Amino acid sequence: MKKLIVLTIQKKTIIVASLLFVSLVIIFLCFEHQLITDTFGDTFNSSALANKKIFIDPGHGGEDPGCNDPRLGIYEKDINLIVGQLIREILKKTEAEIIMSRENDRDYVLPKDQRGNLTKKLSDLNIRIKMAEDAKADVFVSLHVNTTKKSSYSGAEAFYNPANPYSVLLAQNIQNHLRNIPNMTKRIAKPGDYYILNNTSMPSVIVEMGYLSNSKEKELLMKKSYQENLALAISRGLVDYFENLALEAETPAASQDLATVKPKVAIIIDDLGTSYNGGVEKIFELYKYPLSLAIMPNMDNTEEHALRAERSGFEVLIHMPMEPEKGRSSWLGPGAIEGTMSREAIISNLNKALEQIPNAVGLNNHMGSLITKNREKMLPVMEVLRDHEMFFIDSGTNADSVCREVAKEIGVPFDKRTLFLDSKYDYASIRGEILHLAELSRVNGYAIGIGHVGPQGLNTAKALADTLPLLEEQGIQLVFVSELVMGSVQKSL
Ligand SMILES: [Zn+2]
Repeated sequence: MKKLIVLTIQKKTIIVASLLFVSLVIIFLCFEHQLITDTFGDTFNSSALANKKIFIDPGHGGEDPGCNDPRLGIYEKDINLIVGQLIREILKKTEAEIIMSRENDRDYVLPKDQRGNLTKKLSDLNIRIKMAEDAKADVFVSLHVNTTKKSSYSGAEAFYNPANPYSVLLAQNIQNHLRNIPNMTKRIAKPGDYYILNNTSMPSVIVEMGYLSNSKEKELLMKKSYQENLALAISRGLVDYFENLALEAETPAASQDLATVKPKVAIIIDDLGTSYNGGVEKIFELYKYPLSLAIMPNMDNTEEHALRAERSGFEVLIHMPMEPEKGRSSWLGPGAIEGTMSREAIISNLNKALEQIPNAVGLNNHMGSLITKNREKMLPVMEVLRDHEMFFIDSGTNADSVCREVAKEIGVPFDKRTLFLDSKYDYASIRGEILHLAELSRVNGYAIGIGHVGPQGLNTAKALADTLPLLEEQGIQLVFVSELVMGSVQKSL
């Protein structure tokens, strides 16, 4: 009897359990097509990825280590491969098909008799591109690690082919997630003149996942958890990209918007290096916009502002004091370039500025109406910039400036300010000038504005905070000034 009861209970339990199990399986199957949970506890909507082919290319490999620190046994090729494999792990749970250019430490360099005049590098890249073309991949994602002479540089960045709006969209979607990795230097997607970007028929991106030349980032790039963060950010960017495409297919107007090249506006804020009246703090609050902050050397807060600017996601310029024809000498600041100086003295003052602001990517002049029209004084300036791979922005304080021709002669990327935004200090005037700048960018394709943190700084910051969202709504793309002047940031791949 006792036995029978136990048996009955067991039977009931088994039936109930089976029913529960079956219904759970049904529920699971229903959801499985839309929601896929990845290994990191994240949820991907997979429907936009259905039937998509994603080509993941861990850069370098085999004989070609990429950038490296052999003393510590760190090779770019290994990091690229690890992150590539992690991306595959994450995305394999979606409905997308993942194709890898390599699964191990190898390259695709053809033997000499087969590659003809091609360099080893191009022979290798051609095969990777052909693999993606043959597979009819929807996107090509090439993974890399960067290095540069400036050890303060850090942060992951995605490069696109500016001629392909889908490449731009893909890079922007990936960059948006890379920016959100904790403590990541907040870079923006940039145009790049890379062989892969120029020679793939499908939208492609180069993701530079960080700088080995930065000691902190080098350490991070070797960490499993950081590699997982990178892989997850890139995977999320890919999901966003395909979701955007799906949306675009539903609303044809969106695709037209995507295909038109947007006018570009770059804004430089001058005279950082010292803090007065709170303008600096208010400008630092605008970190979500790609502003370039021009920092004066030899000031109380020069080095602090240079570091803080880069960490917050701004681009850093040196704001070099240069002697004016007239104007108060007290405005000039210490360590200026003056008309009586020898070539050696000019170079020495520039080198001091570079030591204090080592993360600057370019330079513009503070005042300088006397110096910028003087070829003899501008020659050493341009030579120093060329040697540091930096660009020059003429603030435009003298209509007879010779900077453009000297820059061209020496081979320094050059452009000139379009408008000063805050020559009149009141809010309404500054706002008016920002809108004027936007108008000029529509006419000329782009425009460069300069504002200040000085007496008008609070008004300038507020006018920018209120007006920049309007510009974006009007379809104007805000960019770092380097993007306009350099066209793209180059690196030997
Ligand atoms: Zn200035």
